[in-house]
Amino acid sequence: MKLILLGAPGAGKGTQAEIISEKYNIPTISTGNIIRAALKEGTEMGLKAKAYTERGELVPDEVVIGIINERLNEDDCKEGFILDGFPRTIPQAEALDKMGVCIDAALSIEVEDSEIVKRMSGRRVCPACGASFHTEYKKPAKDGVCDACGEALIIRKDDEPETVLNRLNVYHEQTEPLKSYYKAQGKLLTVKGQDKVSDTTALTLAALSEI
Ligand code: AMP
Repeated sequence: MKLILLGAPGAGKGTQAEIISEKYNIPTISTGNIIRAALKEGTEMGLKAKAYTERGELVPDEVVIGIINERLNEDDCKEGFILDGFPRTIPQAEALDKMGVCIDAALSIEVEDSEIVKRMSGRRVCPACGASFHTEYKKPAKDGVCDACGEALIIRKDDEPETVLNRLNVYHEQTEPLKSYYKAQGKLLTVKGQDKVSDTTALTLAALSEI
């Protein structure tokens, strides 16, 4: 299965991606995670991306298109993949079409802005292994500590309130038009994000079983 996950930042794409990845045995490709790893390593691409991500803006199309082109050519993508966080603009979607990538569906997880703000202010991530938690919805066993590796959890710089509002504006302006793009291709699936992750998962899996 070749799947795109659409949705505002904080709509729960990453969590659903993990579940689908396990069930269908296909890799998740998250441009956000690739960019964060590059930032941490201090690579040239990471340095280029730094200022944009910290402001909650999108990294230039040619940078992320290059990342995806390279990643999709790796062997583990042959049987399918989940794109989490790409495409985020119409030119990125067009670039994917031009690469000859034929996706099965673009699944949009829909969550109200007010709910997104609430969710993101509680998000905590592990700076060592990238695991993600929430102060209300996905508590670690021990407050402020990563379940997976024991590292102290942090708030991502781009999850700070002002940046979140900026990221939401960017989503509505630049990414939301992708819903019409994929609808016109007959590939759009929509799921309403629920309070409980397992409820959203049930809706997601039901939607995917129809393709
Ligand atoms: P995410 O974790 O997916 O929310 O991504 C974090 C940040 O990485 C975003 O706010 C952008 O600055 C950058 N980013 C990730 N994916 C893309 C993309 N497809 N296009 C442009 N910028 C991206």
